[in-house]
Amino acid sequence: CGVFGMYSPQPLDLAWLTYLGIFALQHRGQEAAGMAVSDGDKFHVEKDLGLVTQVFDERRLDSVRLANARVSIGHVRYSTTGSNLRFNAQPLTTRTNKGILGLAHNGNFVNAREVRNMMLMEGALFATTNDSEVMLNLIARESHMDLVEATASAMQQLQGGYACVLMSRTALIGFRDPNGVRPLVIGQRDGPDGAYVIASEPCALFAVGARLLRDVMPGELVWVDRDGLHSLMVHPGQPTPCSFEWIYFARSDSRLDGVDTHESRIRMGEQLAREFPVDADIVVPVPDSGMGAAIGYARESGIPFDYGLYKNPFAGRTFLAPTQEARDLKVKMKLSPTSAVRGKRVVLIDDSIVRGTTSRQIVNLLREAGASEVHFRVSSPPIKHPCFYGIDTAARKELVASTHSVEEIRELIGADSLSFISERGLREAVGGPGLCLACFNGEYPAGTPLLNDVDKLA
Ligand code: 5GP
Ligand code: SF4
Ligand code: MG
Repeated sequence: CGVFGMYSPQPLDLAWLTYLGIFALQHRGQEAAGMAVSDGDKFHVEKDLGLVTQVFDERRLDSVRLANARVSIGHVRYSTTGSNLRFNAQPLTTRTNKGILGLAHNGNFVNAREVRNMMLMEGALFATTNDSEVMLNLIARESHMDLVEATASAMQQLQGGYACVLMSRTALIGFRDPNGVRPLVIGQRDGPDGAYVIASEPCALFAVGARLLRDVMPGELVWVDRDGLHSLMVHPGQPTPCSFEWIYFARSDSRLDGVDTHESRIRMGEQLAREFPVDADIVVPVPDSGMGAAIGYARESGIPFDYGLYKNPFAGRTFLAPTQEARDLKVKMKLSPTSAVRGKRVVLIDDSIVRGTTSRQIVNLLREAGASEVHFRVSSPPIKHPCFYGIDTAARKELVASTHSVEEIRELIGADSLSFISERGLREAVGGPGLCLACFNGEYPAGTPLLNDVDKLA
């Protein structure tokens, strides 16, 4: 998912700016979009299934627009639970003694079910199956605390990987899990309003004319009100941001925790070329996710980069389609080989192999188009474990690398050779502090759900 929030000391068209912000985060979720806007008195919310441009036509955008808007949040969702339901769209809202609150959440709480059960026994009510609602209810029920204290207290009770924005009528809050698994950045607009922006990635700041101030730190809570920007370190932890943000998820023009995604993808490709060289004629990326690594592979190996696969720019991200059948059809909608591959030994570069189904189809497309050899190079290690922190890398039984060796996967996808970057190589390519690599090595830095909760492990 992608989250976005703004606070402006002067009236601004926050409905429009929030639209631009979540549109810049569309790659983080395509199932639902929503926003909430307040002027200190009124509090408007609109959300629905669909892309940002589908949910917010002019009429819908007008219905959240407020002449004196000061605070807003927005969300793009992709469900990690598979439930593509309208009532799970965000922002979530609730009425409390602190006034109405809105929450937009990226990530997963690993102990949400236990906390929810405890709250149910104490009489709490839940309207959705969304674990974000547990966070919102926890904040809402601390009626004796102010909003910042209540949010900090909720952060202490829920574990996992998360980044959230929360708004009241008069303040904007952003907070990030103690490991900083999910990204969150702060920006500010130049010019007279000096509005603050909190978002999943810097591209959303730039989209609304703000510059990057800094990343929210792991375990930090920041809030903006009429007195400006404030910070509270709630729960300092060992930073282990999600490596998949750099491998695949974040946009190529984003810089997260001081590491540029495009540059790190190029280093992954260079590393792959050193670890797994091959005699070949051209290097071809699977667009767009294999682009950076293919540039790196070509540079390091000296094999020319070529445009071997056309990508229909009107197709979305394949994996975000919720069912296998939908994903299969979407591959053909999306990709088609060019004449560059005819008679060529191709090094095909992609960011990841999850189920293997897309990869098999792509190898097949290249062969049909006359490629003489296809050598598959992957800029992430084999994905063997489920993600409990908000990236839908599928249930374990669907992860081809959890049940197949590299050689078996090679045979399955029909490649002449297949290699995955090493875990050490990936670490070096990203650099920076620690990294979550749990979906590769099963070491979960921010905890796991109780075993009997985990249908994903089945
Ligand atoms: P596969 O061959 O595993 O079906 O698909 C691999 C390609 O699709 C990669 O380009 C990867 O970016 C994308 N992909 C497919 N399914 C998923 C998924 O469930 N999660 C993620 N993160 N990426 C996926
Ligand atoms: Fe990212 Fe994988 Fe960790 Fe999930 S398990 S947070 S996808 S590195
Ligand atoms: Mg891809």
